[in-house]
Amino acid sequence: MEKPLYLVRMARESALAPRPDSPIVTAQALADTRGRPLRDLRISVTDRCNFRCGYCMPREVFGHRHAFLPQPALLRFEETARLAEVFVVLGVRKIRLTGGEPLLRKNLGRLIELLAALRIPDGEPLDLTLTTNGSLLERQARMLRAAGLRRVTVSLDALDPILFQRLSDSQTEVATVLRGIDAAAEAGLTPVKVNMVVRRGLNDHQILPMAEHFRGSGHILRFIEYMDVGSTNGWQAGEVLSGREILDRLQTHYPLEALPGSYPGEVAERWRYRDGQGEIGVITSISHAFCGDCNRARLSPEGRLFLCLFAHQGYDLRALVRRGAGADEIAGAIRAIWSGRTDAYSEQRGRLATDRPRIEMSYIGG
Ligand code: SAM
Ligand code: SF4
Ligand code: SF4
Repeated sequence: MEKPLYLVRMARESALAPRPDSPIVTAQALADTRGRPLRDLRISVTDRCNFRCGYCMPREVFGHRHAFLPQPALLRFEETARLAEVFVVLGVRKIRLTGGEPLLRKNLGRLIELLAALRIPDGEPLDLTLTTNGSLLERQARMLRAAGLRRVTVSLDALDPILFQRLSDSQTEVATVLRGIDAAAEAGLTPVKVNMVVRRGLNDHQILPMAEHFRGSGHILRFIEYMDVGSTNGWQAGEVLSGREILDRLQTHYPLEALPGSYPGEVAERWRYRDGQGEIGVITSISHAFCGDCNRARLSPEGRLFLCLFAHQGYDLRALVRRGAGADEIAGAIRAIWSGRTDAYSEQRGRLATDRPRIEMSYIGG
């Protein structure tokens, strides 16, 4: 049987450097139909979660009768790492673990170790990060860092303790998440990013308290427009507070100035407080689509590849790894899929048919 590429990599630093005769070499110039490269891979490691945020997993739909994926269907860590290695050769520079709640996946540190051992072809380590609801972060932060995770993003929609429990539809206390954020920073998973999804009339009054709380902390608070992801959250345009409105509210208290983007395909507009108290971000997928340089692919818990958050269908890569396909064959399949990509949902919102069910955020991750 062919030796898993990541083991070769761990044994010999240059093992992943593309060979001149390898079809993988030509795949490095991978681009979709609009010339967008593949740079960012989001790996959802579970479709389960201990929260039931209404915009993501409303309890009426994701109640005790909901059929989650059975364990054998999930990609094993070695299978995920094998696919990830091929993605890296094809140009991926950043991997984000997500879910569901990724910290619910048993022995996640083992997967992180395998991914952290991957090197991009110039020898640099991958940008390896994770998005979590923070409920289990306090007890796992040090383990995650030791396994090789570089940063975390923590989702937090309110500081008010009662509102927090209502929005997350959980018994977890907001203080637990705040301690998780502190533990992540202490463990060196920095800069910690904090994501707040803003819904008009529900938690928009928390924008200023959140800004006040995280100003000067070194953490980067990012405000996210509420999105019409999936088919179950009953999304309504009237609940969206645009990035512009969010910035206007912030500016009345804290003067801001724009920062340049850090890299092509970055989803957040970056701003900083003029008084030097740090940085914030605004993610405007509704009011200002950023499909033009979207370089993100998503791998579902059971190994289906999705090219857009709003996709109707994925491509089964698990079948390829489970039948022992070699790296070149997997690379060829991914290359064929990505080079035919036309996705630009946010640009076309409102002009597309809405009758087909879309994947859920809790399945594919944010
Ligand atoms: N459970 C983890 C968490 O909450 O961070 C990771 C998965 S969660 C699906 C990833 C991100 O998607 C979270 O930051 C969450 O707030 C965001 N999200 C979920 N549904 C959303 C929606 N309808 N609009 C905007 N963001 C959403
Ligand atoms: Fe769970 Fe994250 Fe979805 Fe909330 S947003 S229900 S924490 S997966
Ligand atoms: Fe990328 Fe799809 Fe979002 Fe556009 S709508 S930015 S293509 S994930």
